[in-house]
Amino acid sequence: MLEAPDNAIKCLDKGFVRLVDSMGGDDAIVQAARVSYGKGTSKVSQDRGLIRYLMRHRHTTPFEMVEFKFHCKMPIFVARQWVRHRTANINEYSLRYSEARDDFYIPKSEHIQFQSALNKQGRMGEVSKELKEKVQNYFQEISDRSFQIYSELNQAGVARELARAVLPVNLYTEWYWKNDLHNLLHFVGLRSDSHAQYEIRVFSDAMAESIKSVAPFAWEAYQDYAVKGLRFSRIEQSLLEQNLPDRVVDDLIGDVDYQITATLHHNKPREDGDLFPLYQKQGGDDTLDDFKLKWDSGEIKTGNVRELREFKEKLTSLK
Ligand SMILES: Cc1cc2nc3c(=O)[nH]c(=O)nc-3n(C[C@H](O)[C@H](O)[C@H](O)COP(=O)(O)OP(=O)(O)OC[C@H]3O[C@@H](n4cnc5c(N)ncnc54)[C@H](O)[C@@H]3O)c2cc1C
Repeated sequence: MLEAPDNAIKCLDKGFVRLVDSMGGDDAIVQAARVSYGKGTSKVSQDRGLIRYLMRHRHTTPFEMVEFKFHCKMPIFVARQWVRHRTANINEYSLRYSEARDDFYIPKSEHIQFQSALNKQGRMGEVSKELKEKVQNYFQEISDRSFQIYSELNQAGVARELARAVLPVNLYTEWYWKNDLHNLLHFVGLRSDSHAQYEIRVFSDAMAESIKSVAPFAWEAYQDYAVKGLRFSRIEQSLLEQNLPDRVVDDLIGDVDYQITATLHHNKPREDGDLFPLYQKQGGDDTLDDFKLKWDSGEIKTGNVRELREFKEKLTSLK
């Protein structure tokens, strides 16, 4: 099997991820969205806004217009988790057809930990140096011994498709893996998460680098709305409704009114005298004197008008 090619991102001790090809980028998302939303956007800032709108409202098909093809090499136990993502097209190195190579994953000592007591699917805690060495020695021993047996069976003419079954799951395999951006983001969302196993996380993080360079706006929007955004269950919402005092919600809504006004002003500057009426039109109910005080403080953030109005609606629903 291959050593890591020059343009690959190295993963674990012998694995890698290499972007072989990609089709489209942020522009392809916008182009596809135009079909459903009519006349298109022209400025880069508008493209970004549209992509963020699509992501926020989970209008996902435009993201499927962007494709990525990767060449990856990973241990079989990682591939085993990876194939659960069913929307990809995969072509894997065949151990029925070709001979296995002496390529096994041996974990680095810093990644050898105890079984987590908190998370049944995790690891935690510092393991002694002796135990770490023992783990690494066992990995090496089972890799060497199984490969020795495999080679012996191979030389005796036993079918490769059967002989391979003596090899452990830390053996490296290799494949071409193609997926669209929507499903790739879903993969990265699950597998770059801290709950995912370290050994698959490094591959997911490596693929994320390609997304960042091919579709930076889509990546940013995915982080803002899917990865770092919060969603509340009905039970959580009712707790908020019951326990969040109206005055706190009103303060937040008040801030949003200022932000909408500042953003509208930023997008299309108004005369000084028109600012207070603009603020009132957004629902702001401070007096002119208070408005002036706050406006002159210079601490009002701008954002996206549509997003701010959606936020205001959510806040209002909590009252
Ligand atoms: C931290 C973690 C722990 C896990 N632990 C386990 C475990 O203990 N045991 C285990 O078996 N698995 C486990 N998994 C795998 C997990 O259950 C999913 O199989 C895997 O994450 C793929 O997710 P997916 O189905 O959303 O992705 P994909 O297969 O890529 O599908 C993407 C999306 O397409 C849609 N889709 C695809 N196929 C279908 C279909 N046939 N029908 C309807 N909709 C479809 C769904 O909306 C899906 O979300 C774990 C995953 C993670 C991240």
